[in-house]
Amino acid sequence: MIDRLEKYEDWARACMHVRCGFCRENCPAYSQMQLDSYAAKGKMTILYHLLRGRLQLDETIAERVFACTSCGLCDVACGYNQSEAIHEMKAVLCKQGVAPPEGYRKISTSTRESGNPYSANSAEGDTVLQSLSESKLSSADYTLFLGCTQIYRESEEIDSLLKILRAAGVSFRIPNEQICCGSPAYRVGDEFQAFEQAKRITTLFESMQSDKILVSCAGCYRMFSNDFKLLMNDESRFKTTHTIELLQELIKQKRLKISPLNATITYHDPCHLGRHSGLYDAPRQVLSSIPGVRLVEMEWNRKFAKCCGAGGGFRAGKVEDSIAIAANRVQEAKATEASILATACPFCLRNLRDGAASIDSKIKIESVESILAKLVL
Ligand code: SF4
Ligand code: SF4
Repeated sequence: MIDRLEKYEDWARACMHVRCGFCRENCPAYSQMQLDSYAAKGKMTILYHLLRGRLQLDETIAERVFACTSCGLCDVACGYNQSEAIHEMKAVLCKQGVAPPEGYRKISTSTRESGNPYSANSAEGDTVLQSLSESKLSSADYTLFLGCTQIYRESEEIDSLLKILRAAGVSFRIPNEQICCGSPAYRVGDEFQAFEQAKRITTLFESMQSDKILVSCAGCYRMFSNDFKLLMNDESRFKTTHTIELLQELIKQKRLKISPLNATITYHDPCHLGRHSGLYDAPRQVLSSIPGVRLVEMEWNRKFAKCCGAGGGFRAGKVEDSIAIAANRVQEAKATEASILATACPFCLRNLRDGAASIDSKIKIESVESILAKLVL
């Protein structure tokens, strides 16, 4: 099983020779724990010694490897895709039956037992979806997939999104069954459960004869547009659009009438949407198109944007550290003197809000959709 990691040997060897440490800069795990073994540098050192048989996969190694938000900042700093190697290490640990720390493990067991990473009653999720009139439609241009965080934790985000889509006259329908996209399980290395979710989702979309999928969670977006192909060893059978791309298009086509907002806004790039998917311009163009809005950038933005600290199971595994990382990002937003910190992922939204609360910050933290929904005429 460890053979699977051999393809990263050259990267690990290069790291062992260079040990430059560039990957430590802004690595959320390192910035919080302040030990090299939490940065990509340390994880690649572990990988190198695993491949040489000098280390064994055990729970101490697992604690270090799983402490990674999958943000990809180390890839930008390093030049090698170290976050991919770290992801593979998590998968190998899982397959070898080495238990990840409790919080990360719970993501897998909850997805397997409850159908979502929050251990919520999935029948309640189905009820939420079935209460929306678009779930009764038999055909539409888009299928709007609502993710677990929107349904079980940030349901007001659904209202905002639907208000905009309805105002613009977008033809969309909604599945009447709630299924997790599998991203949380995948990010904690549980490829088996992620594959199960991918099969269920693919069957759902095929049964709805849907090939144009709309999502507004960065994790669901990366999963559908990239990871399903890897998991299922197959070309994707549907095209995925993030709602921020659709909003950009709707504004370009002048299908939304937007009232002015006198505000300074800064935008946080979700890692799965920005660094991992290259979607940087659309959210900025949407925000800039609001009359009266002044868009300002944080010091670290676009491909260098700092992580909110929530991803890769890190929020479940190390909640206090995760919220401290979010607080750090909020401080950066405050330094711009913006009154609103906007983002385009419900999971980032949630962690940034918790980070702001932990430092008693008054900056408003909102999704681009919720800002726009209040302004759509
Ligand atoms: S930047 Fe890359 S080569 Fe340098 S220490 Fe980090 S992982 Fe190793
Ligand atoms: S992916 Fe992010 S959290 Fe993980 S090692 Fe790289 S920079 Fe650190």
